[in-house]
Amino acid sequence: MTAEPVYLDHAATTPVDPRVAALVSALMAAPPGNPGSSHAPGRRAAAQVDAARAQVAALVNAVPEQVVFTSGATEADNLAILGHLRGLPAARRAGAEVITLATEHKAVLTPVRKLEHEGYTARILTPGHTGRLAPSQLEAAITPATALVSVLHVNNETGVVQDIAGIAALCAARGIALHVDAAQSAAWLPIDMAGIDYLSLSGHKLGGPPGVGALVIAPRRRATLEPLVVGGGQERGLRAGTLPVPLVAGFGLACELVRADREAASNRVAALRDRLHAALETLPGVLFNGDREYRSPAILNLSFEGVEGEALVTALPGLALSTGSACDSATGEPSFVLRALGRDTQLAQASLRFSLGRGTTATEIDIAVAAVGQAVAQLRAQSPDRPLPVADWQAAGDDIRVGEAGAVRLGTWVRLLLCIRQSRIEGARFQAYGCPHVLAVCERLVVALRGLPVEAPQPGTPEDWRQAVDAPVEKLGRILIIEDALRAARA
Ligand SMILES: *Cc1c(COP(=O)(O)O)cnc(C)c1O
Repeated sequence: MTAEPVYLDHAATTPVDPRVAALVSALMAAPPGNPGSSHAPGRRAAAQVDAARAQVAALVNAVPEQVVFTSGATEADNLAILGHLRGLPAARRAGAEVITLATEHKAVLTPVRKLEHEGYTARILTPGHTGRLAPSQLEAAITPATALVSVLHVNNETGVVQDIAGIAALCAARGIALHVDAAQSAAWLPIDMAGIDYLSLSGHKLGGPPGVGALVIAPRRRATLEPLVVGGGQERGLRAGTLPVPLVAGFGLACELVRADREAASNRVAALRDRLHAALETLPGVLFNGDREYRSPAILNLSFEGVEGEALVTALPGLALSTGSACDSATGEPSFVLRALGRDTQLAQASLRFSLGRGTTATEIDIAVAAVGQAVAQLRAQSPDRPLPVADWQAAGDDIRVGEAGAVRLGTWVRLLLCIRQSRIEGARFQAYGCPHVLAVCERLVVALRGLPVEAPQPGTPEDWRQAVDAPVEKLGRILIIEDALRAARA
């Protein structure tokens, strides 16, 4: 059994606090009760929901009536964005605009795009290179048709903290509704509903159970918000469906636990983030993604020059963290957030997001520093600007052949080195920049080449090599580059 990796992916999901887990499982095992029923078990369930509603409200300085429970922040974002525009009075709805940022979470950008298909207008702003939106930039984008502004409080990839107070003042002065996705900030930063119309929260980002969250709604917006889920009229008609009482209660407790030590936890985690950042910044070719002043205590995003993103993550089996590399994303694109901040494809892919949690320790940080330093050094040792690893062959006076193909900027570059003695391939080595499959094929190929007569047929086809390392069909193009390098070396 391999040891559990060091978990530095709290921005993806957090461990459920043991006190929350105990409450959720106790309620799961308890006698049933639908909070909509008027008998005693129903009233008990309703009381549990009421308590949770108050706990969630207290975390963001709201009152319980403002809290609408949802399945998570994704649903809350959808409800705020789709529901606000669709609920506008008919006269305002035609041509109404929503403003958001290119660096937002997909749970924001996707409903915004959906609105565009419904005939609304979307203005997607690209913030400056740190990712922080200047209120003046927002001000310049606002038009009389602007109905909603949607921004993340803390960006989930870079940890950038937006100027919510400045943005809220601007929106309030013009009567524009403001939606803030606080899924990444609620665990760490104070939040005040004052000036905010809609606020999204997620249980599993703050030590609560997955599958529950909330949209907190300013009273002035209640009457017009168009629900997404209709049915039994629960949540005062804004979100139908029987509430998952154990999850709701667990989410409420998690909010209370966060509130009890948020400042102390933030300071402790910020010190660990600084320890990680300071240590990794001593490596050459490390670039910081984000804003050095306005940043989450729990997120650090760095790009590494001269290494390939997927290969970097594969070289870190002892760490659970996220990357901007194609391997990780379903779309096969490098991080669109880092691209929007001006990073090139290589740097956007070769990025690591370290996200810390309340349980993260200094020892774990030191393990991460050592592992990253070693992985980066190992991958860079194979990069194009390194000297050819042939000093021993040169000393022996052998016939050395070198073949190169591809380019770092295209994501794959391979250099094959052959040492020919008495018409046989005495030795074969490679240097490469590429995904783990490319590196694996190179490793096998140099072994297969050793000892072959120079004139022998090529050992297998790129398709054979692809299958041997279990690479997906889409990787064949990259593997063909290895064949090109081999042909060049044998020419
Ligand atoms: C995780 C996350 C979401 C999605 O939350 P779910 O509760 O998983 O739906 C939305 N926005 C941000 C910023 C997030 O980090």
